[in-house]
Amino acid sequence: MDNCCLKIVQVEPAEIIRRRSEPPPNGGLKSIDSKWGAVTPGPFIIYFGNNANDSYFSTHEPGHIIQLLILGKYYYPLVAIPSLVSATFFPEHHNNMPWEKSANQLWYWITGENHPRNPLYFKKK
Ligand SMILES: [Zn+2]
Repeated sequence: MDNCCLKIVQVEPAEIIRRRSEPPPNGGLKSIDSKWGAVTPGPFIIYFGNNANDSYFSTHEPGHIIQLLILGKYYYPLVAIPSLVSATFFPEHHNNMPWEKSANQLWYWITGENHPRNPLYFKKK
């Protein structure tokens, strides 16, 4: 059965827990690589893992809260749903989508904070 495509490996539960808590091998890019780093489903943010301390997320997700305050119920069809779709099906384009980029921009205008991997429309020199 060597050429079978399915390989069964027995793993101890403690091993699974250890593996989950290990940072991925690419270190610095761990937040961007994990499928869901953080989500803003309403007037609150859910950060996964330690991502609340990662400025890549903490300068972006609060921007979605600003969008929610501006758009009200229209936040869901204009931002939340498109964001879910782009993050799921077009992750390589997700960060440059207007619903994402405008979140970065709003947070930048309010706080002056931006992470280099969060694209902006306008930046002061
Ligand atoms: Zn986003």
